[in-house]
Amino acid sequence: MLQWLGLKPEETGDDPTDGPEAHQREITPREIWLPAKRRLLGNVADFLIDHDLEVMPWTLEVAYDFVTGANPRIAQLILERSDSGQAVTLQWLEAIYRESEGDGTTDALAVLMARLEESLEHFSSTTTSARTATSEYGAALQQHVDDLEQVSKAGVVITELAALARAMMHRTREIETDLNESECRARALQKSLDEARRNAEEDHLTGLPNRRAFEALFEREYQEARKAGEPLCVAFCDIDHFKRINDAHGHAAGDRVLKLVAETLNRISDARCHVARHGGEEFAVLFRSLTPDDAWERLDRARQEIADRRLVNRATDLPFGRVTFSGGIADVFAYDSRTNALRAADDALYAAKQSGRNQIHLAGKAPPPIQDAA
Ligand code: GH3
Ligand code: MG
Ligand code: MG
Repeated sequence: MLQWLGLKPEETGDDPTDGPEAHQREITPREIWLPAKRRLLGNVADFLIDHDLEVMPWTLEVAYDFVTGANPRIAQLILERSDSGQAVTLQWLEAIYRESEGDGTTDALAVLMARLEESLEHFSSTTTSARTATSEYGAALQQHVDDLEQVSKAGVVITELAALARAMMHRTREIETDLNESECRARALQKSLDEARRNAEEDHLTGLPNRRAFEALFEREYQEARKAGEPLCVAFCDIDHFKRINDAHGHAAGDRVLKLVAETLNRISDARCHVARHGGEEFAVLFRSLTPDDAWERLDRARQEIADRRLVNRATDLPFGRVTFSGGIADVFAYDSRTNALRAADDALYAAKQSGRNQIHLAGKAPPPIQDAA
């Protein structure tokens, strides 16, 4: 059995006895799979060591995906990068790992797509059968029309012709019903598909683009702004002490505050400024064609607008107190990758929180002198 698997008994490393009885007894499944497990773990370790990567849950996951080929896309990207002589760094790996994380949300779309394809296939086979049936009846009719010219056969032929015409009309009606049904199904599927696509990219609570949509927008704006030589800034905003609002007023009231902040922030958006819910009580904003200072001014106006309001919990009439948010902005092209620009914006946000909240910081710049901290 072991020979058949291409393994020597000692390779199992699990049975130190080597007496004659050891060769006769049954080899357990554990002894068979142990070397394979060891090899797999060894390969995972080699991957992390060869690329000088830290051992973390997600790096282990990527290493596993790579060595087993469980994620062919990641495996291919890593091979391409290695082949081009570039280092597989932690940063680079994190960016492709995060991109691949969102893939699960496409499952619903994939199922719908498959169903749509199936329905369209049915649709086209129905039309094909309609065409075939029509041409068959047409050929038969043509034959009889030809025969009609030979007057001697006319009596028989006319009777057959009438029967054929009736059959043809019946079949045509059936085909028409089939076609209508197929059309209805295709239209219904198209509607579900549009809805699923919207759901996959929209945050349910605020109606803003979600993180997945934001990443796609960022990629698109990044490429276009770079080509056009235009500035691009990215910002992270985070509601201050939001947990306190939830704790004091409940989750539902917290949701209403979140929606209000989202609406206020979204008012600064236009064709070149995109506001998205990045997750939790955090928003991401992209400013195309604006300098970092102009982006700062625009975002700061939204910050001021929210800070100036005095919100009341309409369910209890109790005031929410002052609701504020902090933000961090980064000039995207000042960094060598989108990931690093995002990190810089996040660091600036952290600095804004550290400096007292309710303020916007620009990455790589001293904080603005006049602050209206919470
Ligand atoms: P900081 O100023 O440091 O950001 O403090 P914080 O309290 O805002 O930050 P923390 O990360 O401690 O808490 C964030 C809270 O936001 C915790 C989480 O329950 C809440 N939250 C996240 N998403 C939602 C949501 O969709 N609705 C509600 N109501 N709360 C949410
Ligand atoms: Mg937060
Ligand atoms: Mg917060």
